Amino acid sequence: MNNIAIFCGSNFGNDPIYTSLTKELGNCIVKNKLRLIYGGAAVGLMGVVADQVLSLGGEVIGVLPEKISNTEIAHKHLTELHVVATMHERKAMMANLADCFIAIPGGIGTLEEIIEVFTWAQLGFHSKPCGILNVNGYYDKLQELLMTMCGAGFLSEYHMKSLVFDDDPERLLNTVLQQKVVYQPKWVK
Ligand code: AMP
Repeated sequence: MNNIAIFCGSNFGNDPIYTSLTKELGNCIVKNKLRLIYGGAAVGLMGVVADQVLSLGGEVIGVLPEKISNTEIAHKHLTELHVVATMHERKAMMANLADCFIAIPGGIGTLEEIIEVFTWAQLGFHSKPCGILNVNGYYDKLQELLMTMCGAGFLSEYHMKSLVFDDDPERLLNTVLQQKVVYQPKWVK
């Protein structure tokens, strides 16, 4: 495993714990000799994780759609910055480059990105592990929703459990790095 995609807020959130745990995750990424793949912006937690990895000598690849490069100001010091035409190209490139995916707190963009790659694993389009850094219970309601889907027969227990939730960056990363995701073609009845 070489490359990890981090999906995260283009804002900082209103509790300093979001920034401090983002930095901790950046430390773990470098410690594990992983290359960071992310959205390419210098703003919010996106900028925090990129700065942290770069400051420790790690490599960071950003993928930013041209249309939003004014609002999500491009990071100027990345190892590589790919400016692409559309959001779809961004997501496809990030998904292809990454060997695993972690979402940390963020808004609807972050949510959409992690859920999309999670659904692709369900369909067997890839078998890359997905995880969620559940800082201060930020994603508890999402986990509850997945359990509701599972209980109602719309999501398999296997897939529900394959999305790793943890509040500790190092433990989360270690679990994700060891996770084996297997396609379950018999789920659709
Ligand atoms: P947010 O979590 O809303 O702060 O956004 C985090 C990142 O997700 C930003 O880089 C956004 O450009 C990106 N984003 C926003 N909407 C979408 C979307 N529909 N699909 C993929 N990424 C998105």
